[in-house]
Amino acid sequence: MSIKKNLYGTRSRCCSSKSLIVQSRTGGFITQNCESCGTPRRITIQQLPSLPCRHCGCELRKTRDRRGNYAYSCLTCSLSVRVADLVPKWQEHFEECGVGVGVDSATGSSNAW
Ligand SMILES: [Zn+2]
Ligand SMILES: [Zn+2]
Repeated sequence: MSIKKNLYGTRSRCCSSKSLIVQSRTGGFITQNCESCGTPRRITIQQLPSLPCRHCGCELRKTRDRRGNYAYSCLTCSLSVRVADLVPKWQEHFEECGVGVGVDSATGSSNAW
């Protein structure tokens, strides 16, 4: 069973839409992407939504792992999970939705058109 979740950050400034938190292409890093136009923005740890622990129902603590990646941890169950492991990869989500993500070509890997 997948543990993937759709988590939302703050409302986007560009379109005033929900911003889906996704794993960026670089791995453990996450961004919040506007659901309307796909524009990624940085997300701060305070902007992460609150989540209950799947095991005990306590509210998970927002924290960082040793490498500085955002994570949720439950003190009661002494478990922690990286946010990046919970959320979908942004390519998966935004390409499935048919959003033409106009990533600038600095990375050379976006040829959506
Ligand atoms: Zn937008
Ligand atoms: Zn727990």
